[in-house]
Amino acid sequence: YPSDNIRNFSIIAHVDHGKSTLADRLLELTGTIRKGHGQPQYLDKLQVERERGITVKAQTATMFHRHKFLGSDTDFLLNLIDTPGHVDFSYEVSRSLAACQGALLVVDAAQGVQAQTVANFYLAFESNLAIIPVINKIDQPTADPDRVKAQLKSMFDLNPSDVLLTSAKTGLGLEQVLPAAIERIPPPPGKSTSPLRMLLLDSYYDEYKGVICHVSIVDGALHKGDKICSAATGQSYEVSDVGIMHPELVATGILLTGQVGYIVSGMRSTKEARVGDTLHHTRTVIQPLPGFKPAKHMVFSGLYPADGSDFEALNHAIERLTCNDASVSVTKESSTALGLGFRCGFLGLLHMDVFHQRLEQEHGAHVISTVPTVPYIFEYSDGSKLQVQNPAALPSNPKNRLIACWEPTVLATIIIPSEYVGSVITLCAERRGEQLEYSFIDSQRAFMKYRMPLREIVVDFYNELKSITSGYASFDYEDSEYQASDLVKLDILLNGQPVDAMATIVHKSKAPRVGRELVEKLKTFIDRQMFEIIIQAAIGSKVIARETLSAMRKNVLAKCYGGDVTRKRKLLEKQKEGKKRMKRVGSVDIPQEAFHELLKVS
Ligand code: GDP
Ligand code: MG
Repeated sequence: YPSDNIRNFSIIAHVDHGKSTLADRLLELTGTIRKGHGQPQYLDKLQVERERGITVKAQTATMFHRHKFLGSDTDFLLNLIDTPGHVDFSYEVSRSLAACQGALLVVDAAQGVQAQTVANFYLAFESNLAIIPVINKIDQPTADPDRVKAQLKSMFDLNPSDVLLTSAKTGLGLEQVLPAAIERIPPPPGKSTSPLRMLLLDSYYDEYKGVICHVSIVDGALHKGDKICSAATGQSYEVSDVGIMHPELVATGILLTGQVGYIVSGMRSTKEARVGDTLHHTRTVIQPLPGFKPAKHMVFSGLYPADGSDFEALNHAIERLTCNDASVSVTKESSTALGLGFRCGFLGLLHMDVFHQRLEQEHGAHVISTVPTVPYIFEYSDGSKLQVQNPAALPSNPKNRLIACWEPTVLATIIIPSEYVGSVITLCAERRGEQLEYSFIDSQRAFMKYRMPLREIVVDFYNELKSITSGYASFDYEDSEYQASDLVKLDILLNGQPVDAMATIVHKSKAPRVGRELVEKLKTFIDRQMFEIIIQAAIGSKVIARETLSAMRKNVLAKCYGGDVTRKRKLLEKQKEGKKRMKRVGSVDIPQEAFHELLKVS
């Protein structure tokens, strides 16, 4: 396939507008997967993706399609990349776009343009991709394609006559999609006669093959057996296997200019496979490709084994999982309350949740995660600045006077039906948001832009926004600068002992309410024990909230008057099971859920 007969495109859209379903249909249409066989959302391979119905990892599939082009039947090689829609994974999207010359911008015919439609459109637009608007789900009774066309025109200046109308469910209009992609998207621009340059898009670890890299061949060609070299590290490797994702790995022995495929090259860990790196033939001199911006970690949380002895097991599980998700940062840390563990940086809360779930499901780890925090900066009178990824690491009595605190902010985009404008403005004000823009997409939908402290949206903002708008709000954000802020460290004490893993940093104005709520919440989650427990929230040495959990009188076993041994054993086992997920802090047992629930307090 000469690059003139290659097209690389991705499918981008707001969550649930039908990207993965459309990808299925295109794979079926080209005979890449058999119709009716396999599961829906074929490319969503991870268990988390199937359970949550979302795409987390971008997936590539190569398809072959014959099309009448410039008067004659021509065979085309098409690379399709299905991308995640959720804001946490926009990093995956921007990486995928680097291997594409075009994008199908899918919009739900009933819901119209939503916040991630806007974000994804601009990602594609800034990358100079040919954009093909597709209005999907036209089979729905509430579909209103004309209204959506008008929105696409007014927001993105997309011509109504260029819009495709489809239903990925019934198959209506699908036959226009691939011809439009072939006619409207330019072939990849690389030079087949230049020395090989390939962009490393993604990597993962396979039990049998070792590290597998996804690559895009920008210039030149790659053959099995070639010796290649990393522009970033200078390390060389021999390519032992090369092929395409069809969508399963199919060895081809060769990849040509403009193709997207996989390589196996004896890399020992995914740490060697740096996403965004340029690979080239050894002994050729090339100009490295621009690569990608590094992933930016928005939230940090401590991960600890639910059972102290499992540290090594957790270590192993995290190492394995980060091989498939290099966007997580991991450093070891220790906590007086929880022992040895890890401080991990994530792209957002959903990313954190998904990582957590994958640790448990794919690697059998039991973890306690501490209240997530955003990266604050504290500045002291001697000019030193401390980036705080763990509230516990913030000194309660610093040597030098604190002169300023800084917190990260985001630019948030919110799209809502006009009747909810009032309540959304109230919510954003409560979350310390500053309105930057307020306009209307059409007669029924409002568009707002806010600058907000990251901390305020990390904690349950999206759920609350959804609930006050009956589920109609859509929301997206991008990171922005730091702003000065009045922050305090809030300690939680059990029987006078501070629990380092429960410390948080909050805005001063919110400290009294948050302190009260945390203490009340903890009271409901900690079981009564043989002694009284005093739960306190404090700023420095000043206690701002307090609850008492009175002692339990009766022993569980007192009920089974010695006689019934099996019953006694059962009870003991049950108690042991319950303990598994407990963490003993000082002399108090705290269930895992308590840690989890704390993060819902804002
Ligand atoms: P994604 O998040 O953009 O990948 O969306 P999915 O492909 O996972 O689809 C979200 C939901 O919309 C699924 O329940 C699909 O079955 C449904 N869906 C997708 N396309 C259509 C369509 O054309 N018509 C209807 N009625 N439902 C669709
Ligand atoms: Mg999907």
